[in-house]
Amino acid sequence: MAEMIVNGERVSAASGATAEVRNPSTGAVVDTVPLAGAEDTRRAIAAAQSAFAAWSALSGARRGQLLIRASQNVRAHLDEVAGLLTDEQGKPIRDAHIEAERFADNIELYAGLVTAGAPHGKHVPLPTRRAMGLVVRRPLGVVGAIIPWNFPLTLLANKIAPAMAVGNTVVAKPASTTPLATLRVAELMLEAGLPPGVLNVVTGPGGVVGEELISNPLVRKIGFTGETSTGIQVARRAADDLKHVTLELGGSDAAIVCDDADLDVAARGISIGRFFNAGQACLAIKRVFVFEAMADELVERLAARASRLKLGDGHDPRTQMGPLHSARQRTEIEEQLADAIEWGGRVVAGGQRPTGEQFANGHYFEPTIVVDVPEGARVWREETFGPLLPIMRVRDLDEAIQRANDTEFGLGSSIFTRDLAKAQRAIDELEAGYTWVNAVQIVEDELPFGGTKHSGYGKEHGTEVLDYYTEQKSVVMAGI
Ligand code: NDP
Repeated sequence: MAEMIVNGERVSAASGATAEVRNPSTGAVVDTVPLAGAEDTRRAIAAAQSAFAAWSALSGARRGQLLIRASQNVRAHLDEVAGLLTDEQGKPIRDAHIEAERFADNIELYAGLVTAGAPHGKHVPLPTRRAMGLVVRRPLGVVGAIIPWNFPLTLLANKIAPAMAVGNTVVAKPASTTPLATLRVAELMLEAGLPPGVLNVVTGPGGVVGEELISNPLVRKIGFTGETSTGIQVARRAADDLKHVTLELGGSDAAIVCDDADLDVAARGISIGRFFNAGQACLAIKRVFVFEAMADELVERLAARASRLKLGDGHDPRTQMGPLHSARQRTEIEEQLADAIEWGGRVVAGGQRPTGEQFANGHYFEPTIVVDVPEGARVWREETFGPLLPIMRVRDLDEAIQRANDTEFGLGSSIFTRDLAKAQRAIDELEAGYTWVNAVQIVEDELPFGGTKHSGYGKEHGTEVLDYYTEQKSVVMAGI
């Protein structure tokens, strides 16, 4: 049985309760984890609070050194960590490996930044005679990191790397269905010398562990990634205590394909953008708007690509797309597809659960493309969190941009064009936190990332994230 990490120790839940973690490909139990309650969460918060004074008092260089040593121990166990990720999440092992590696990259990026002195305060000349103005940065204290199941390590690193680097301590809550890789990386970091209490991991239900993190006054910041509806609840509850909150929520990214686009580039990008991680990515391409002149050719190419994708168990190195993460995810995609068909949509690729013994116990669904779906169907209004892509023909860029913006979400967006003027308009007018030109989903830790509208607020990545894990204090040094 895996155990939680609290105050540098591996612990069970006070109640002794446990929960099973299942493999989405086979339905088999991978392992069990403690089912924590509020008391366990409070113990982890207290440990993080006790560790805060000493951790925040270390120099940035020293914290950086400890974090790099910790991340190197994760690097030394990449195969094991990636294997756990595939077991519990279902993703192909190659993608799991990249995710585990990116976890270490992210820790090292922020370790490097604080080693080099970031985040900088500043000196501000003041009009008052002989007075000097300073802005100093201070960590916030205990941070609660609440993580979903689609990218358990990437989304964990996005929060804990900057948070710990600038001197905060953390209590992390992985999704109930994907706690194993998180527990293992925390254990590896601890073994490599990360001080006890700096990173705690508590496994248990969002409504219990997450709720305690949000309501406990010792927690000063919540970094949350998950569904928009959950994020709204988190923001409401956190407001009672005026906690800092970063919300990375759902998305319904549009890709616009113009009549001058390079269709090879567009088809390849959209195919990866939709079907990567079995379509379960916040930044997945979830709607395509293509100019009439290119529509037939694009649909044909995308359908051909979808049909070629190799489905299978994540541990098979030939697998390009694994199962959906849960029965619920698959049912939701099936219902959204049925609704699109009822509205008159035509399936041009996929549309079924794959048959065959290897798929019998997993939550598999074919990569699916549907065309001629009128506006009003669920696929245009809701987030489709699985391998289902609706494509709509549009007259021109005006219509494409208007339709792309016609959603409550505002996470990412893409345009495929060779025309700089069209690209410029998309950059100016698409309501999203990211716009890619002739690309999709290139998310680098160096660029700030975060949504607008109901996709959330606050930034992760870049140096900008450091603003969200520190507070600034103004100082006036007056001459006597
Ligand atoms: P959920 O909102 O269901 O869960 C996310 C996390 O919140 C889980 O750890 C969950 O715990 C926890 N949680 C659930 N209820 C509460 C509560 N009342 N209080 C506190 N915490 C709670 O999201 P999913 O796991 O289904 O993740 C998929 C969603 O995440 C999609 O909408 C996707 O777009 C979005 N996402 C956004 C990204 C972004 O950066 N913008 C990136 C990736 C995903 P438990 O597992 O125990 O229920």
